[in-house]
Amino acid sequence: QAKQMGGGQYCFYTEEMDQHITRKLQLENGLRKAVEKEGIDVYYQPQVDVYSGKIIGFEALARWSHPELGFIGPDEFIPLAEETKLIVPLGEKILFEACHQYRQWINEGHNLERISVNLSAIQFMDPTIVSTVERVLKETGVAPEHLEIELTESIVQDSIQALPVMNRMKTMGVQLALDDFGTGFSSLSYLKDFPLDTLKVDRSFIQTIHENEKDRAVVDTVIQLAERLGLSVIAEGVETEVQLDYLRSHGCAEYQGYVFSKPLNKTEASALLTRSMAM
Ligand code: C2E
Ligand code: MG
Ligand code: MG
Ligand code: MG
Repeated sequence: QAKQMGGGQYCFYTEEMDQHITRKLQLENGLRKAVEKEGIDVYYQPQVDVYSGKIIGFEALARWSHPELGFIGPDEFIPLAEETKLIVPLGEKILFEACHQYRQWINEGHNLERISVNLSAIQFMDPTIVSTVERVLKETGVAPEHLEIELTESIVQDSIQALPVMNRMKTMGVQLALDDFGTGFSSLSYLKDFPLDTLKVDRSFIQTIHENEKDRAVVDTVIQLAERLGLSVIAEGVETEVQLDYLRSHGCAEYQGYVFSKPLNKTEASALLTRSMAM
């Protein structure tokens, strides 16, 4: 059709668009199958005490390998799962798997405070979310205080709907963290209204902390803001000792990042826990 309109350029763009749509359909079908057949893995990144170096908990992160296309990052498949509403069954599986694994580690005698699970705004707005969380906690035997739900600032756009859900989660005893803090749309007034427990400083501020005075100003301010509001603060994406030293000397009590460990599969995470228990 584009050819009839004349001009090879249009044809080029059409093919590119076709390829884009084909890949998307391929991913969509693959994702649907992966959700049905337990094809999505959960990886775990340690959350660490800045001062003692002890593992406090893990953040659960979804991983997917498409049979033909190979590894697809969550930054690509999570938005697709949201678009297709597959995020609801997928998110539930991830939540279950993560809580189940946490319980297993506790049963093995590991001293872990928390398991953190990312919930997308769409999942959070689903009318079944509160009962799903309740049921998963019950089935896995995890006390609500040990589950931390990570929300992004996109939740703020639906605050009228989100606030009652957050309050019900709080009543249940579940912890709430605001992920990627500082990169979204949140106005400070929401911080005061939302029943949050933790702010997660986005890694974009941590990355250039050593060279950028302004990033240091942002990080310092978030740490102080959290303190004044009675919230915990955790830095994400810590890659170097220099960044870690900075956080230590500026009162940020927790971190996660490659300098300690990348996200690990459950076997690797278990081995790491066993090693760190022996220390
Ligand atoms: P996030 O929740 O902010 O997760 C942190 C991301 O930073 C993860 O990327 C993690 O692998 C990466 N990361 C950790 N430490 C470092 C570091 O030191 N340096 C760098 N450069 N990166 C680091 P990942 O696993 O690719 O996930 C990307 C995003 O996808 C997550 O951001 C989260 O928003 C979303 N996501 C992942 N798993 C899930 C899930 O199960 N459910 C939902 N709704 N979203 C998920
Ligand atoms: Mg997160
Ligand atoms: Mg984050
Ligand atoms: Mg992110």
